[in-house]
Parts: sequence; C-alpha cells; structure tokens
Amino acid sequence: MTPQEELELISRDVAACTRCALHTSRKMAVPGEGPVDAEIMCIGEGPGFHENEQGRPFVGAAGKFLEELLKAAGLKRSEVWIGNVVKCRPPGNRDPLPDELSTCNEYLERQIKAIDPSIIITLGRFSMAKFLPGAKISSVHGQMKKIGDRYVIPMFHPAAALHQASLKPAILADFAKLPEMLEEARRGLGRAPAALPAAPDATQVDPKQLSMF
Ligand code: URA
Repeated sequence: MTPQEELELISRDVAACTRCALHTSRKMAVPGEGPVDAEIMCIGEGPGFHENEQGRPFVGAAGKFLEELLKAAGLKRSEVWIGNVVKCRPPGNRDPLPDELSTCNEYLERQIKAIDPSIIITLGRFSMAKFLPGAKISSVHGQMKKIGDRYVIPMFHPAAALHQASLKPAILADFAKLPEMLEEARRGLGRAPAALPAAPDATQVDPKQLSMF
C-alpha cells in the first residue's frame, strides 16, 4: 500500500470508527487533511462545532487564525497536514478524556508514519502532552526539539491566543521562526527541501534555437 492509500484508508477507518463514546454524538468524524508528502504536520486538540459540521479540521475562527500564522511563515494551508489528537468532537467542546485520547492515538500514529513529516507542530496542551509529557507550554512554546526521527515544536493553540490577547505576540513570534526551524530540521535530518520545478538545462538546448534570440 502506498502512503497515500494508507492515509485514505485511515480516513475511512476514522469515518466508520465506533471505538469510543464520541462516535455517538458526532455529526462527522474529522480525520485530518493535507498532502501525504507534507514536511509539517499541525496537530490540534479535537474538532469543534464547525469541524463536526463539515468533517474538516480547523475551519472555524481558530482555523482562520492558523492560516494567517502559516502565511506569516510563508506557508499555505494546502502545503501542511492539519489534524487533531481526537477525531470526533467532544460534546460541548469539553476536554478529551484519557480513554478517548488513547483510543484515538492509533489513527494519529498511523498518519504520522504514512506522512513521515520533518516537523510536528503541536497546537495546545493535549497534543503537546503526547510528545512532551509533563512540559509546560509557557516555558517551552516555540522551542524545537528532536524526538526520534523528527522535530516537534510546541505552539500555543490558536484558539487560546484568540481568547487571550496576551498570548498573541508570542504565537506570532513563534510562527515567524518557522522558516528557520524548517531549515534546521532539514539539515538535522539530511533532507532536501521539497523539489522545485527543474530549471531548463542550457546544455540540452538546441544551439539553432539559441541563435533565434
Ligand atoms: N480546534 C482544534 O483543536 N481542532 C480543530 O480542528 C478546530 C479547533
């Protein structure tokens, strides 16, 4: 199975999942979305009202802000993979429960394996706790750390920064550092940046054509 096929299979498995109680209250499961060769995965907490309606991650106000933050880092939403630690909306946007997090973890693990990103950006405390158990977001936000075969950057949740104006400068500054952290991650992993369109090779150009200019 190709990584793309595996991602599609995970989305179908998530849409049909009945492993925890969240399936009983969901309208739509939200598996996550983005390119299979994404260098960056952004992982939030769980679907909210709008995500549950549409089956897509980060489509409400927090999503709009996330898109702005990515843009400030020179990235388009379509270039990164976006998802959550739990794939179904906790009723009333309550925090996900430990058994919901552990049951859903298998899907995220499979997604990370299929995409094999250089960087995982955790958005908020539940996603941070998966990779950096015990860490305090106020002291580690914006600091990239190598964990296993990739790098993890804990960021404030965009929704938290929307509700608490004092966090906004920090989240903006952390995302502004993303291009340089991506370079560092590529160097650290020995990975080349995503391929640019090949430049025309002058040695292959017919000299007769050149004389036309
Ligand atoms: N907040 C999240 O953590 N995830 C979403 O998909 C939307 C809002």
